[in-house]
Amino acid sequence: MLEVLSGKVFYPVWDVWDKSTKLKHTQNLEESQWLDAETLKHKQWQSLKETIEYAYQYSPYYAALFKSLGITPDDINSPEDYLKIPVTTKLDVRNNAGLFISTEYKQESLVVAKTGGSTGVSLNLYFDKVCQERRNAAAIRSDRWAGWNLGYKRASLWGNPHLPKTFKQKVRHHLLDRTIYLDTMALNNQTMAEFVTLWKAERPKALFGHAHSIYMFAKYVASINEQSLRPQAIVATSMMLLDHERMLIESVFKCKVTNRYGCEEVGLIGSECEQHNGMHLNTDHLYVEFLDDANQPVPAGDPGKIVLTDFNNKGMPLLRYQIEDIGIPSDRICSCGRGLPLMEGLQGRVADFLKGPNGTLVAGISLVERTLTLIKGLEQIQLVQPALDIIEVNRVKGVDYDVNTDPLLLGELQTVFGSSIKCVINDVKEIAQENNGKYRFSICKV
Ligand SMILES: [Zn+2]
Repeated sequence: MLEVLSGKVFYPVWDVWDKSTKLKHTQNLEESQWLDAETLKHKQWQSLKETIEYAYQYSPYYAALFKSLGITPDDINSPEDYLKIPVTTKLDVRNNAGLFISTEYKQESLVVAKTGGSTGVSLNLYFDKVCQERRNAAAIRSDRWAGWNLGYKRASLWGNPHLPKTFKQKVRHHLLDRTIYLDTMALNNQTMAEFVTLWKAERPKALFGHAHSIYMFAKYVASINEQSLRPQAIVATSMMLLDHERMLIESVFKCKVTNRYGCEEVGLIGSECEQHNGMHLNTDHLYVEFLDDANQPVPAGDPGKIVLTDFNNKGMPLLRYQIEDIGIPSDRICSCGRGLPLMEGLQGRVADFLKGPNGTLVAGISLVERTLTLIKGLEQIQLVQPALDIIEVNRVKGVDYDVNTDPLLLGELQTVFGSSIKCVINDVKEIAQENNGKYRFSICKV
């Protein structure tokens, strides 16, 4: 009953209360996904042209960049022309944050998110409200591909879940978000057993989480021979979903896993549809390039660096943003009939679980996110656990590094791993990706 009310009544009413256009955007996306590939490509190019023009006019960073190149948006009339604009790196954003913000907005009017980024680099990002609504709409569309729908209760496996605090947030949580959480900062037999009990009482219809966390939970569920957890949708996000993980998760929950790829900087990038054969790219909202080492496009089937232009965020426009993941573009047409192009695979983003006291598992990706967002002065970190009682931190200093940074970092690690943990901070200039293109947030050698 609440499920139907939530989906059909509370969501639309909330949109009105919140002056949100999210459901309208969702409706537009539901329709556009069935347009043919050529029409979508044309629409995407128009959106790209508008975004370039906007960035040129309102972003001091891009205005200066165009000026230094001696070109204007009128000089960009093809994908080849667009290659003339140098890629924007994470460090460009980090070192020039204020210059990326649109002069059309007051900085205070934008929502700020400090993020661990997708490779452990800390960034301050600014979003306008419409951008967030459009991103939520894209997430709803792909949630539906997975088998979820508005109003369905969710089970979420996240680190540091945002629990409701204000009255409005609590109302929203009860009527709309309808989510139960398992905190991946502390996975052990007890927390997972409690979550199974909660699941049986609440009966969520969908399971969301980092791929590796879902896998760990599935292994636990199999180990206790629990056979009553039957979600209709499983969405694995934020990290690589390995084949053996997918197989185990699907066999334990008797439900297909929908693999999804996104990031804080630009929102949803790609998601599998119900065919589970490659990820459809979110070309309604993004221009996606796959480039070789010379920053030239790779052919379909070859891995390339993913570079993104976001059409949504007017508050902080990003052109040709290098996300530091590797993906494989595809020229296949999906049998589902959607015109959105496909990406074959994703490489990058792996993070081991680290081992806390009494065998508790700590999701490395969640811990890196938490420390980077809480502590000032960290540009990038990687956690390595060579022995049960030792954590080594490879740490790149940020521009706002000061005497408090390392003590705060050590304190945070002791909170998680106990006061007897021996922590070593290695001051490094950079943390490189591995040869296979993978960036490892955390490495457990125990
Ligand atoms: Zn499809």
